[in-house]
Amino acid sequence: MNRRQWMMGSLLAPAARAVPAQAGPKNIVIASSNGARACARAREMLEAGGDTLEAVIAGVNINEEDPEDNSVGYGGLPNEEGVVELDASVMHGPTRRCGAVAALRNIKTPSKVARLVMEQTDHIMLVGEGALRFARAMGFQEENLLTEKSRLAWLVWKRSLRDPRGHGNWGEGLSAPAKKPAAWLREQFPKADEALLAWAWEVALHPPSGTINCLALNAKGEMSGVTTTSGLAWKIPGRVGDSPILGAGLWVDQDVGAAGSTGRGEENIRVAGAHTIVENMRQGMPPREACLDALKRVARNFSGDRSKLVQFDLSFYALRKDGAYAGASLWAGATRQGKLAPRRFAVNDGGQSRLEGCAYLFERKPE
Ligand code: ASP
Repeated sequence: MNRRQWMMGSLLAPAARAVPAQAGPKNIVIASSNGARACARAREMLEAGGDTLEAVIAGVNINEEDPEDNSVGYGGLPNEEGVVELDASVMHGPTRRCGAVAALRNIKTPSKVARLVMEQTDHIMLVGEGALRFARAMGFQEENLLTEKSRLAWLVWKRSLRDPRGHGNWGEGLSAPAKKPAAWLREQFPKADEALLAWAWEVALHPPSGTINCLALNAKGEMSGVTTTSGLAWKIPGRVGDSPILGAGLWVDQDVGAAGSTGRGEENIRVAGAHTIVENMRQGMPPREACLDALKRVARNFSGDRSKLVQFDLSFYALRKDGAYAGASLWAGATRQGKLAPRRFAVNDGGQSRLEGCAYLFERKPE
């Protein structure tokens, strides 16, 4: 990849909302594209004088508790054994404290547990069984986080697994007559609604990822952030992504700003993305350039090989202490009918939340 190709994406990317050089702190919340409701709730709390961490956690609790959000909390897509495992991290700028949980089962709101790790222990991160025991001790109710919709998707995924000869363990044996995939699927799940089955097939073949990252600044100049997720669908039990890794999925430095991420966690961990972005801003890069620089490091880890890079995506979000902000992703959103649909991120600095376009490094070929 040459320098021109590098630049192309950056130049074509929509400009981040201009922030006047003299802008001071103000109540503003930004989040990944699934965070419009979270931003609105968090901003309302900031307006009422609430603490920035309290505000972002209350915001992402909407996604964590929503069974229709299959990438976070309750209803999240499970690991390969059909068990939902959640990761979350929080950072509170004013006190410079942080907390995280990883591979936590049975608790809907891992962001609240992460906050209690920060407040009630001398540790920063609890994982697996230990995190669950801690949550129980803190009075959290255990519940099955697997919704019927997510369970169906998991079963469809299991039944889609085949060896090179086309044989799978889940489904009919060799003696059964051959069937077309659609007919086979319908037979396997006769009661499932058509649209639901189509969705389940899609997520079985293309394991989705999804997360919410939410960052806030208040009028006093205080900042906090949270990242919470059910991680990668069909992961190996115990797999931990970037979301609970402080410095990768989230970083807040009260003197500079905050950053967070969504997308393929493994690649973010390899560049410590959120920390890199905050350090870039400390050195004077605006949020947009700070995010794009971290993405260039991701591309560098593959020597810029697009055939590999195209297999995943990663997005960063950054909010500077003066209220400047940006979102940036490795890839522009899909190009459909010659039109570019950039990835988006949510912003609320008053009134309704809006979605703004992310800057990006690369464009996909038109479909
Ligand atoms: N970053 C998350 C992880 O790797 C997943 C995602 O954001 O899609 O666990």
